[in-house]
Amino acid sequence: MPTDPYGWMEPALATIHRANWYRQVQSIGSRPGALVLLEGQQVINFASNDYLGLAGDDRLIQAAIAATQKYGTGSTGSRLISGHRDLHQDLERAIADLKQTEAALVFSSGYLANLGTVSALVGKRDLILADQYNHSSLKNGAILSGATILEYAHCDLENLRQLLEPRDRYRRCLILTDSVFSMDGDLCPLPELLHLAEQFDSMLLIDEAHATGVLGKTGAGCVEHFGCTGRSLIQIGTLSKALGSLGGYVAGSATLIDFLRNRSPGWIYTTGLSPADTAAALAAVAIVQQEPQRRTQLWQNVNDLKHLLDQEFSFQPSAIRHPPSVISSSSPFPNFNSKFKIQNSKFSLSHTPHPTPHTPILCLPLDNPAIAIQLARALQQSGFFAPAVRPPTVPTSRLRLTLMATHTPTHLEQFVAALKSTLQNLLP
Ligand SMILES: *Cc1c(COP(=O)(O)O)cnc(C)c1O
Repeated sequence: MPTDPYGWMEPALATIHRANWYRQVQSIGSRPGALVLLEGQQVINFASNDYLGLAGDDRLIQAAIAATQKYGTGSTGSRLISGHRDLHQDLERAIADLKQTEAALVFSSGYLANLGTVSALVGKRDLILADQYNHSSLKNGAILSGATILEYAHCDLENLRQLLEPRDRYRRCLILTDSVFSMDGDLCPLPELLHLAEQFDSMLLIDEAHATGVLGKTGAGCVEHFGCTGRSLIQIGTLSKALGSLGGYVAGSATLIDFLRNRSPGWIYTTGLSPADTAAALAAVAIVQQEPQRRTQLWQNVNDLKHLLDQEFSFQPSAIRHPPSVISSSSPFPNFNSKFKIQNSKFSLSHTPHPTPHTPILCLPLDNPAIAIQLARALQQSGFFAPAVRPPTVPTSRLRLTLMATHTPTHLEQFVAALKSTLQNLLP
């Protein structure tokens, strides 16, 4: 009896369903923004990485249209074989200017920039040290490189130092970290990482995907935020988050960029960015530099939401009662400086003054994936798009909120009120 070689897939999917790990895509029927049409329903959007509200900005749209009219829709081939457009070079110059690096190189996505860079920099004789919470693209880039990979505990410098001790047994060493951790919203300890990298003759690569355009006075990212501009390191990022377009980049020394152009298969053997994406990103980089008020507004919103949550769940904790199982007391709540906890079955934020907020990603830890899905669904029915993030993406379930410069105070107030009543209704 021949068996169906594809027959394993349905049972595999059934297992995913049983674990509450099954995922589905929902359709957006409008321009990106703080308000979107989700499956035909108008919702306030806390699910987008478009931090500055640029993906729906008329200037980016017009730039994309003009580039398409001038250069067509496709780049028609690898840049080395088919040539590129002046737009590609302009964008690379603009990114290098923003980052204050000698040069930059644009990839087809941030994911590909990580795969293509990590695998070009190290190989079998080398060592990679990686934060355990790094983005999937850094993890897979590390695997692709064939180097020895050691993961250090999240942001644990002492653990990293220990793992660096046998560094001399390897040819090269590369430390990999997200700058803003995408699913937790906390920041890597960049100055200390740079110090360790220098001490152990290691390269350091940071992924600025959620920091570019957002952190630092000029929006250059976490490197600028920590005053580390000009230090030797490799910066990777995406054009698809605060820059509102599509694509990825690497920024660093001219030698690094020259090397990648010659040795990174993820850049060499793939088609150049489309003229539309390139022009939109170029327009976005200019806006990031010219309109710092967008960042000011974003941080205002982050502060306001934290304040509202604090008021709602700390000053009136009796308003919401939960069995302790609903929200895990053991889960950290990193965006609230690990102070979000359950006391006596209450859902509360402990009373610490808020230091300067670090990132526009806020997570509400939840005990299990089923609760996470229920909460996200109920919020959506009330008009809020606030996605549940679950294993295997992250070790523990959570509601992940991303803030935008274009959220209004009313959006935030309405959300906190809805969160409060939804949590009440979800409980017996
Ligand atoms: C989103 C993201 C990427 C991937 O970028 P894309 O341009 O969307 O492929 C890489 N790293 C991190 C940390 C991210 O959050």
